[in-house]
Amino acid sequence: MTIQVVDRKMYLAGKWVKRDRLIEVIDPQDNRVIDTVPAATSKDMLQCIEEAKEGAEISAALPVHQRMGIINKAADYIEEHNERFARTISREGSKTIREARKEVMRCIQTLRISAEEARRIHGETIPFDQAPGSEDRVGYYYRFPIGIIGAITPFNDPLNLVAHKVGPAIASGNAIIVKPATVTPLSALLLAEAFEEAGLPPKVLSVITGYGSEIGDTLITHPAVRMISFTGGLEAGEEIVRKAGLKKIGMELGSNSPVIVLEDADLEEAAASTVSGAFWAAGQNCIGVQRVYVQESVMDAFQKRFIELTRQYRMGDKQSEQTDMGPLITEKEAIRVEKLVNEAIDKGAVLLAGGRREGAFYAPTVLTNVPETCQIAKEEIFGPVVLFYKVKDLETAIQLSNAVDYGLQAGIFTSSINKSHTAIRKMNVGGIMINDSSDYRIDAMPFGGVKQSGLGREGITFAIQEMTEPKVVCFKLSDA
Ligand code: NAP
Repeated sequence: MTIQVVDRKMYLAGKWVKRDRLIEVIDPQDNRVIDTVPAATSKDMLQCIEEAKEGAEISAALPVHQRMGIINKAADYIEEHNERFARTISREGSKTIREARKEVMRCIQTLRISAEEARRIHGETIPFDQAPGSEDRVGYYYRFPIGIIGAITPFNDPLNLVAHKVGPAIASGNAIIVKPATVTPLSALLLAEAFEEAGLPPKVLSVITGYGSEIGDTLITHPAVRMISFTGGLEAGEEIVRKAGLKKIGMELGSNSPVIVLEDADLEEAAASTVSGAFWAAGQNCIGVQRVYVQESVMDAFQKRFIELTRQYRMGDKQSEQTDMGPLITEKEAIRVEKLVNEAIDKGAVLLAGGRREGAFYAPTVLTNVPETCQIAKEEIFGPVVLFYKVKDLETAIQLSNAVDYGLQAGIFTSSINKSHTAIRKMNVGGIMINDSSDYRIDAMPFGGVKQSGLGREGITFAIQEMTEPKVVCFKLSDA
């Protein structure tokens, strides 16, 4: 099955263009080159921004019913070709074919919700006569598109995280330029193909492939680009914020999400959910479970069951229907994870499962007694490694959960409604899941973090708010 039809091209303002300099797209499980894409230059990016100025006007003038029609047709296209989309995700990235199929289904939902939300971009009437002297005024505000959006996306959900920016941007009448992760550009190009097939006017959408270090600054600093919507790591995020200047910023960054398991929880359910939350996409997941705080009376039982389930996890060929977990995105990343685990073991952590690397594969790994001085105790691992901590009570678990610089999502397993509410009030995160791991998300909910996990929210309605601005209209009336 061919995974791509664009033949070494990128999508620049409605045209598929080639460049001499190419980037190889490599399957991390066997290092085979599966395709090549252009390495765009800063000049390409400038041309793209110039064309997007016209694209923004075209997009803003599209009636809402046409925007809805186009987005729904793009979703139909993905539905029709769903297996090709899934194979592309799983070949260029880390995901197994089963994980990739789920991402394709989520992307279709993201687009369908975007189409639906296009009709709900409302304003309100304003009671101007509340201000003395304004008795003869009537008016309202409505939301208008901000213009050109620059979207920079990561490798770990190479289709749906792009759709989370493109769907709301088109629904709200903006133009959008996507710079996908260099290691996984093909899924984003397929999304462009879906929008082209759906009849999106040229210049509204571009997908420019190239290195962030070479073309990123042009996109980030250009005054015509009115918003940078970034999903990725903290380091790149901070650099972008420093450079962007006066424009809107959306930052979806990383985390080292906590899950709390209390003694009144359903342990079987908690173990199954937490194992999946820890090892989904080989742990390369911004809301993946990293730290598990277990009440001491159930620590042994929970840990035993967790390790049993971890040992059943099948790591291997991503294209096999039997595989649960694939490789990390590169061997370099697997070596980084290995070093973090080894540092923890050297400092006294106890390895309960995993801890083995083969090429880009790193076995699902469980550690306990991890000293606070280790990097993995505080930083995001972004790999299949979970840390266990025994805690006396809920208060201690909450305090330790909050004692990091991140705050994206958290989970708590308990049958007590009062304990749930204590956690809801006190945990410093963008979302808390009761009787689910931190890894629960639907595409319509507000999604984003506090502290160093980000700024602003995605989730279609919330992204649309960020991508539009209110304009006030006021009529001064006089009696006829
Ligand atoms: P990354 O290294 O930060 O890269 C993300 C994107 O930023 C890539 O397209 C990259 O381009 C680009 N980039 C990097 N440095 C740049 C710069 N100086 N200027 C402009 N663009 C730049 O992240 P990643 O390794 O792909 O993804 C993993 C991270 O994303 C993790 O921290 C994870 O938690 C986070 N994430 C967050 C969410 C969320 O919704 N909160 C979701 C998924 C992932 P190149 O590829 O060319 O370097």
